Amino acid sequence: MVDPPADATLADFLRRAERLLVLTGAGISTESGIPDFRSPGGVWTRYDPRQMTFDRYVESAEVRAMSWAMRREFFAAGARPNRGHLAIAAMEAEGRSVGVITQNIDGLHQEAGSQTVVEIHGTARTVGCIGRRPRWGTPDGCGFSADTTWAFQRIDEGDPDPACPTCGGLVKSATISFGQAMDTTSMDAAAELMARADAMLVVGSSLQVHPVAGMPVDAVDRGLPLAIVNREPTPLDHLADVVVHGSAGDVLG
Ligand SMILES: [Zn+2]
Repeated sequence: MVDPPADATLADFLRRAERLLVLTGAGISTESGIPDFRSPGGVWTRYDPRQMTFDRYVESAEVRAMSWAMRREFFAAGARPNRGHLAIAAMEAEGRSVGVITQNIDGLHQEAGSQTVVEIHGTARTVGCIGRRPRWGTPDGCGFSADTTWAFQRIDEGDPDPACPTCGGLVKSATISFGQAMDTTSMDAAAELMARADAMLVVGSSLQVHPVAGMPVDAVDRGLPLAIVNREPTPLDHLADVVVHGSAGDVLG
């Protein structure tokens, strides 16, 4: 007997899934030119991650200026959705129920057309008030939120540390920083997607960062079929029904 080719097996997996949950990580966005934060040449080789914590952001105007510079660099790259993002959006356009939980902050799934996207590490596309002196790594803002270009405009107009126009609090990118509490709203939304899924597809995540690393384990515990598409082996490959080592664009596109 001849084993079917790996992509045929993935095709079978996808054909059977009616309520697919797709879990994506940095690997899907590297093909759009967004470097993995931890890779050589990645952001953390040029910005000191020890400075980029929530507490340091609250304490230091210098760290805030560095964060805005990093954010501007991120957008200057002009990343666009790639074949991987588009393939996931297309699965939904075919009429299947597809939810996406992503570790990425780039908004490329939504730009590709995915309708249900939970960004568990937040988004770089918007900013929000975190209050004057938030404690315990928990934003305590007034609710002010704006497109990230709002902050860039203020900075260009000569204010290096733009404050909330409503309450005077600190304004921060709507991402989850190191040392910052996870956003309960998105964690609840992720749990809801998990609860109604009948299959899980992991794309471009090394599955080493929690809470995402725990999600495929939960899925398998609940009897859901699991497929993993990633360039490198992951610590959870042994749990998966289908494993394809390759780029998201090549495998799904
Ligand atoms: Zn405010």
